[in-house]
Amino acid sequence: MKKITIAIDGYSSCGKSTMAKDLAREIGYVYIDTGAMYRAVTLYALQHKLISEAGIDSDRLQGQMPHIQIGFKLNAESRPETYLNGVCVEREIRSLEVSRNVSPIAALGFVREAMVDQQRVMGENKGVVMDGRDIGTVVFPDAELKVFVTAQPEIRAQRRYDELQAKGEPCQLEAILENVLERDRIDTTRTIGPLRKADDALVLDNSFMTIPEQKAWLMEQYRRAADDCRD
Ligand code: C5P
Repeated sequence: MKKITIAIDGYSSCGKSTMAKDLAREIGYVYIDTGAMYRAVTLYALQHKLISEAGIDSDRLQGQMPHIQIGFKLNAESRPETYLNGVCVEREIRSLEVSRNVSPIAALGFVREAMVDQQRVMGENKGVVMDGRDIGTVVFPDAELKVFVTAQPEIRAQRRYDELQAKGEPCQLEAILENVLERDRIDTTRTIGPLRKADDALVLDNSFMTIPEQKAWLMEQYRRAADDCRD
């Protein structure tokens, strides 16, 4: 069957990556978590003290962009993990500190330009499931299947809270909800590559759906899109 490009965009913590990852594994596609790439840049900026109370030292960050190499490798369980300059940072990039700082970093034009260029190279041979905020609108506007995922903010915060609790990371539900809402605000209002539904994207509100239900829905959409491409 002809390989297609699958773009999954949507709000923070609405389960995009779980759906995208499962679909990719099932159909033998490459999964790319673009949020992890912005998180890795943010971790780099935190590690190098380029973020302070005064804000982001964007001049220095811009100068250091060529030294920020981001990649993905499969671990022993065949799960993709994020690498920053050769070091696995999968756990560190999911911390609340990174979550708090990532959206302002992702709003910087030079950061987006560098990430979008890398994402286009990663997906140039099709056969990819890419999740993020601007995949169907900016990175791959010609993707054969575009999905826009949404869910109520309180439900998204609760899911994120449960995830962190399961990992044994201390967290507070109110702080997570605040972070989710703040990231939505910054992501939807930035000038470059804002989060918005592509005109031809299918909308999925998964507030009251189980993971197996979402998985089945996405598989059905994939089959339709792949069938359409055969004609
Ligand atoms: O998907 P995730 O929540 O891990 O993404 C972290 C942050 O990275 C988002 O809140 C958003 O600010 C940014 N992002 C983006 N464009 C993407 C993917 C993520 O701006 N394509």
